[in-house]
Amino acid sequence: MGGSPGICRSVGRVPGNCSTPGAVVEPGVPGTVAGNSVVCVGASVVVVPGVVAAGGVVGAIFSTSAASFARHTSSSLRRSASRTPPERSAAPSSRFFAASASPAAISRSASCSCDVVSICATVELRPIANVPRHPLRLASFGPRALLPAAVTARWWRTDKARALFGGAAAHAYYRLDRPATSAVGMMIVAAGHRYGWPVAEGGSQSITGALAALLTDRGGKITTGVHVRDWNELPPADVVLLDVAPSAALGILGARLPDRVARAYRRFKHAPAAFKVDFAIQGGVPWADPECGRAGTVHLGGSFAEIAAAERDVAAGRMPGRPFVLLGQQYLADRSRSNGDLHPLYAYAHVPHGYTGDATEAITAQIERFAPGFRDRIVATVSSGPARLAASNPNYVGGDIIGGANTETQVVLRPRIALDPYSTGIPGTYLCSASTPPGAGAHGMCGYNAAQSALRYLRKGGGDVQ
Ligand SMILES: Cc1cc2nc3c(=O)[nH]c(=O)nc-3n(C[C@H](O)[C@H](O)[C@H](O)COP(=O)(O)OP(=O)(O)OC[C@H]3O[C@@H](n4cnc5c(N)ncnc54)[C@H](O)[C@@H]3O)c2cc1C
Repeated sequence: MGGSPGICRSVGRVPGNCSTPGAVVEPGVPGTVAGNSVVCVGASVVVVPGVVAAGGVVGAIFSTSAASFARHTSSSLRRSASRTPPERSAAPSSRFFAASASPAAISRSASCSCDVVSICATVELRPIANVPRHPLRLASFGPRALLPAAVTARWWRTDKARALFGGAAAHAYYRLDRPATSAVGMMIVAAGHRYGWPVAEGGSQSITGALAALLTDRGGKITTGVHVRDWNELPPADVVLLDVAPSAALGILGARLPDRVARAYRRFKHAPAAFKVDFAIQGGVPWADPECGRAGTVHLGGSFAEIAAAERDVAAGRMPGRPFVLLGQQYLADRSRSNGDLHPLYAYAHVPHGYTGDATEAITAQIERFAPGFRDRIVATVSSGPARLAASNPNYVGGDIIGGANTETQVVLRPRIALDPYSTGIPGTYLCSASTPPGAGAHGMCGYNAAQSALRYLRKGGGDVQ
C-alpha cells in the first residue's frame, strides 16, 4: 500500500474482457465496524468525518466496473496509470480479449456503448427513483438495456462478437432470453472497453487493507470474527448500516422491522450459485488462441447459443454439461502474485442454486477445451462449492455470489419496491449490500448510495437508533 493509508496501488491494466476479479473487494472476515457513531455490520466499510460510506467506496476507486469511478476518481486512476512501471505499461492495454471473440469483432459495440458508460455513472448505479442527470442519453440507453441479451446479440455481425457479448451478459446470472439482461452485458462491455480493468497489486486483499487503513487512520475501530445475529449485539449508534443479505437483516432486526419490509425481505429471491476452483499452474495456461494469454479475465462458454443454453439450465436448477466458466489470470498484470513460473489462477462456473455436486471436473474440462494441455500444468487445486462459499460469507446464500437474482423486478428494484431501497423502515438503519441497487460488483455503489441515505437522515437531525 505504499505506506500511505488508504492508498492501494493499481497495477497495470490487464484487458479483462468483461470482469474485474483483480479489483474485487474480497469478502473479508465477518465483523462489526464501529467508528464515530456509525455501526456497520460487514466488511468493506469506510467512516470518515462528515462522510459515511460503506460497501467499499475506496475499493470502488480501483474498480472500473462502472464509469462512476472514473467520474468520482478519475484523477486517482490517472495517477495510478502514471505510476505504472515501464514493464507494466508494456503489458496489454485496455482492449478486450475472449476465448471466442477477437477485439475487432466488438468494435461495433464500442460506438453505442461508450456513451452508456457515463449514463451508468450518473444514473444507472443509483436507485431508479432519482431524476436522471442525462435524460436524453438515458432515454436512448434504457430501451436497449431492457432488451433480452438474446435480442441484442443479433446486432453484432460475427459469431465471435455475439459470444463475447453473451459472456458479458451472463454476468446477470439469469436466462439471456429474459428482459433487461442486455443492461448488464452493455455496461460490462462498455466499461471494460472504455477503461479496462485495474488490478490491485498483491491481490484483492490489498483493497481490503486500504479500506481498513483509511478507517483506522480516521479513528474508526474494526472488530472481526463476530457473526452478528441479533440487534442487541450492536452498540448504540446514530446510524446502522447492514452489509448483509435481506434474510440476515430479517434475523438481526427481527420484530423491529415493519411488516411490509419483513414480507419483502422474505420474498427476496436468490440467484444461481458459483462453484469456484483455485488453481496453481506451472507455466501459465497454454491457450490455443494466444490472445487469451493477454487477458486478465477470460470467459469460457463457446458460442452465444451455448452460453445461453447453459444459463437456461442453471436457472432451471439443472447442472449443464458445459457450464459457463469465468477464469481470472490477474498475475499477468501483477507478477508479485506468482512464485517464479508457478501462477495463481481462479475459475468459477455458474451452477444451480445450492448445487451439492462437484463441478471441478466440468470447469477443468472447459479450460482444457480452449487450452489443450492445461491439465498437465495443474500443480494444485482448491474447490469451493456453494456450501463452502456460503460458509465463508453468510451473504452467499446457497452459493449466490451476486446478492440476489437479477429477475426482471429485482434487477432494478432490490431488495424491495421503495423510494429509498436502502432503508429498512427503521429510522437510521440501512441495508448496503449487493442486495440493494445497483446490485453485485466491486463498484461500491450500494454502500455509497446507502451512505447518502444515512447522511440525509443525519442532516435531518437523526437520533439514536437504539
Ligand atoms: C469468486 C467471486 C468472483 C467475483 N468476481 C467479481 C468481479 O470480477 N467483478 C465484480 O465487480 N464483482 C465480482 N464479484 C462480486 C463482488 O465480490 C460482490 O458483488 C461484492 O463483494 C458484494 O459486496 P457486498 O458489500 O454486498 O458484500 P461482501 O463483499 O460479501 O461483504 C459483506 C461482508 O459482511 C460479512 N458479513 C455478512 N453477514 C454478516 C453478519 N451477520 N455479521 C458480520 N459480518 C457479516 C461477510 O462475511 C463479508 O465480509 C465476485 C464475487 C466472488 C465470490
